[in-house]
Amino acid sequence: MTLPVIERKPASRPLPAEQREEVLASPGFGDHFTDHMVTITWTEDAGWHRARLVPYGPLPIDPANLTLHYAQTVFEGLKVHRRPGGALAAFRPEDNARRFQASARRMAMPELPVETFVAACEALVQQDRAWVPSHPGHALYLRPFMFATESGLGVRAAREFLFVVIASPTEGYFAGEIRPVSVWVAEDHVRAAPGGTGAAKTGANYAASLMGQAQAAAQGCDQVVWLDALERRWVEEMGAMNLFFVYGERVVTPGLTGTLLPGITRASLLTLARDLGHEAEEARISLQDWRRDSADGSLTEVFACGTAAGVVPVGSVKTAHDRWTVGDGRPGRVTMRLREALRAIQSGTAADTRGWMREM
Ligand code: PMP
Repeated sequence: MTLPVIERKPASRPLPAEQREEVLASPGFGDHFTDHMVTITWTEDAGWHRARLVPYGPLPIDPANLTLHYAQTVFEGLKVHRRPGGALAAFRPEDNARRFQASARRMAMPELPVETFVAACEALVQQDRAWVPSHPGHALYLRPFMFATESGLGVRAAREFLFVVIASPTEGYFAGEIRPVSVWVAEDHVRAAPGGTGAAKTGANYAASLMGQAQAAAQGCDQVVWLDALERRWVEEMGAMNLFFVYGERVVTPGLTGTLLPGITRASLLTLARDLGHEAEEARISLQDWRRDSADGSLTEVFACGTAAGVVPVGSVKTAHDRWTVGDGRPGRVTMRLREALRAIQSGTAADTRGWMREM
């Protein structure tokens, strides 16, 4: 298949440099957007076509737009880092492209070819390269997404979609010093059930999680942790991050059961942990294990991981019945070692021996 050629129609008046630098000094997370976006149309007749790089701006929406009613939409999140010498590189974008295809399949949407996904990201990064932060730890977050553009109220898969990539300079989700997060374990709501859409990056999963996150906040906790839907026993993931459990030198993460998102950071840390000489495996961890192994000291650290925040220590756990501290409640040695190993590859201070960084 030939790729749609991206037609460039750049903004005649991008944000003045002084204002851009002001944003880059303190970008927050997802609050500011670059000057452009890329859009590609899909229709049943023509497939993927009309690829364009255009000024960032509103998209027209019909009130009967199918996405507004039935949530046929998928998204991705990946970061572009500025490396020593000024080169720009995205972390494992092909993996995001493949996960985007898997999400689209689950939601009965067309699959965008991996090369087209990466080419769209690259076109936007090249156009808006001045927006990639140079401050250490900051990055340009790319948000590719796709939604139904057709209108109608019949419940069915749409026949027209728009793929869009936007970009936002970011300082990381939990910016500032490394502070372990506190978690609330949701026992009366579930995020995803077997056979459902939990492994897809689709908006409805996030809508379903908001009440649990609000309860976590009401309990004075930073984040919500989800258990499996059937037994409410097995730990799945935390907010928009995967979880790792550290037993001395051994690291364990819940397996990909279909009800949690297959995180790219998660996959990378399994590999990095082995490279650093740790035993690393996927296994079931129950809430009971978490409680007991924290109490007897065999569970030494717990951390969460994801694109937005990297690696974040989990310091304490609260449920409807009890609460406990993990390790000494402070960032653990293995957590910090993995966090730094990943950051070094992304920022370019360590060699990229696995070819994870793609220059753009
Ligand atoms: N779980 C969920 C529900 C998420 O939204 C994310 C963020 N994409 C993750 C885990 C972590 O995935 P990744 O490492 O690919 O960012």
